Amino acid sequence: MSGNINNGKNVMQNLTPSELFYIAGMGKLPNPAPHRCYYCGASCDDSFRTKDYVQETFTNRDVVLFPGSQFCCPGCVEAAGAGPDEMEMLDGTIRVRENLRGMQPRMYSWIITKGRRWAATKAHIAQLREFILNPPEPPFCVVLADSGQKQLLFRAAVAHDRDRFPVLLEDHRIMVDRVELSRALEAADLLAEAIGKPALLVPLTMSLWISCQEHHGTTDPMEAWGEWRNTETGKLAAWLAKTKGKTDGN
Ligand SMILES: [Zn+2]
Repeated sequence: MSGNINNGKNVMQNLTPSELFYIAGMGKLPNPAPHRCYYCGASCDDSFRTKDYVQETFTNRDVVLFPGSQFCCPGCVEAAGAGPDEMEMLDGTIRVRENLRGMQPRMYSWIITKGRRWAATKAHIAQLREFILNPPEPPFCVVLADSGQKQLLFRAAVAHDRDRFPVLLEDHRIMVDRVELSRALEAADLLAEAIGKPALLVPLTMSLWISCQEHHGTTDPMEAWGEWRNTETGKLAAWLAKTKGKTDGN
């Protein structure tokens, strides 16, 4: 599936998210090896045994790529572990470890390119939006953690196209069309001003229509959001929408 990073473009196109994560952290890909990673299917050696690195409490055994594999790749091992002592956040700041658990990669959203990776929290919604609406040349990978509880990276997919690409929102993969998402975000932002971001995906009630009418003097934003509220793009737009009363995201 994948080999040395220097082998050319085809190799980069076949990277798993965990390999991209590892390259961005270590600056190199592990050497090609005969086994497949239990989680993501990347080629890997026998350094990390599944029995040592997959916790008994891991409940998503049905979605791993190679459930019969006895080995894990270093990217997946790192993603499931305690994390680095320092990491670059999406706003450019460096977060430094303060306690044992606070740096676990699963607790963060991730933006990964072939050379860098940034962690993000819900305080970085504005930066996450900016990246998704204006991504760099592929490959890149977007993982948005909602609960911070699940291992997400191995479920993601690497993007190979700037205009249409997969984004993992918690454990749900959404195919983004940038033009569509931009329209959905416009509708989401406008309505969130009136009813608040959390209400974008709840069942419609009369009081929401009244809030919209009172805030905007019309229910048009409610109607406009109706095009998106039950769509995959709408789910992502609701997650990325600006918070009521703030102009730059959460
Ligand atoms: Zn892996």
